[in-house]
Amino acid sequence: MTEAAATAHALPIDIDAIAPERDLFSKFDGLIAEKQALLDTGVRDPFSIVMDEVKSPTVAVIKGKETILLGTYNYMGMTFDADVIQAGKDALDQFGSGTNGSRMLNGTFRDHIDAEEALKEFYDASSAMVFSTGYQANLGIISTLAAKGEYIILDADSHASIYDGCALGNAEIVRFRHNSVEDLDKRLGRLPPEPGKLVVLEGVYSMLGDIAPLKEMVAVAHKHGAMVLVDEAHSMGFFGPHGRGVYEELDLDLGRDVDFIIGTFSKSVGTVGGFCVSNHPKFEAMRMVCRPYIFTASLPPSVVATAATSIRKLMHADAKRAQLWDNAKRLHNGLTEMGFKLGTETPQSAIIAIILEDQAQAVMMWQALLDNGLYVNMARPPATPAGTFLLRCSLCAEHTTDQVTKILGMFQAAGRAVGAIG
Ligand code: PMP
Repeated sequence: MTEAAATAHALPIDIDAIAPERDLFSKFDGLIAEKQALLDTGVRDPFSIVMDEVKSPTVAVIKGKETILLGTYNYMGMTFDADVIQAGKDALDQFGSGTNGSRMLNGTFRDHIDAEEALKEFYDASSAMVFSTGYQANLGIISTLAAKGEYIILDADSHASIYDGCALGNAEIVRFRHNSVEDLDKRLGRLPPEPGKLVVLEGVYSMLGDIAPLKEMVAVAHKHGAMVLVDEAHSMGFFGPHGRGVYEELDLDLGRDVDFIIGTFSKSVGTVGGFCVSNHPKFEAMRMVCRPYIFTASLPPSVVATAATSIRKLMHADAKRAQLWDNAKRLHNGLTEMGFKLGTETPQSAIIAIILEDQAQAVMMWQALLDNGLYVNMARPPATPAGTFLLRCSLCAEHTTDQVTKILGMFQAAGRAVGAIG
């Protein structure tokens, strides 16, 4: 921003002139003060990082420094794939920069249909519905599927978009203990048998990187007459022989076992957008009733064109899948050997979370890593389970063995500097 522009955005009024009883921002005072106290210690704000330049799926320039990226959801490294970029450029040239409308009216272009076709091929599904984000896919599908008098049964550690989908709808909400098949069974058993029920699960839970015991959970859901939705946002691309997700890895079937898969284009696919796929014969009815699908503009044609190309390439990405698993195992083993406390005892996914004592230690370590040229995600309550402070690493299939070795060296130095390891 230029100096003139910055001045133009300066506060037009004196904050003290707003009567406190009239100020709706008063409730955020504690949060604002907490953030200021943290910044006063001299650390950089972990939630205001700017990528000035992005050189590849694993390297960016942040504040003038070349930095290894270990905190993006670019699991399969598709953002710089030449075919993906070309598809986006072609669509931009042919169809322009945006659709200016809802999927339901003027906002469905050739490439929205093609992205849905690519998803049907990828999942071997009869229906696919593309939303503008994964957040909106959960919001729309969950709030629309279960109506008043029906039940949504969800894992306590579910993503915010799942909770928000529940809040948008009118169904009764029941939570069960994270990944506890026993608790799911108990809570389903207490519900009246007649009303419709939807059990909502995730393949990989993104804070700790642990996977769900989907096989057992699906069996319990079926025993109690519930439909099952699995959000496979963090597993698409590299779990299962075709990269469909944890459910595929565990030999479950879309239709027979799982009714709906929710996913996103913002992680392995490498762009932005969300979707739901299903083999339910009446699934297409969702397009007529799902408000977060209808009352918003559709994705730009260039975005859906990149998504379609990326999805089709992910079907055949066995080498990338193997490299990603190798990277995850090497990082997990290396960090464990150094003595870090991790979110999972064994490598379960491409997310590896380091659990730290408190916010001060987490931020100090985050900053030490960044100063050395490594970016990871800092996560804190309420996003994290059980009030934990985490440094979350997400690996990419494009991380080289050399980069992983370098990353481990950076963790050792930073961990010692802040006293997280001996
Ligand atoms: N589901 C899960 C499990 C997620 O982690 C996320 C995003 N982090 C979403 C849905 C939302 O996806 P999107 O970024 O496409 O809105």
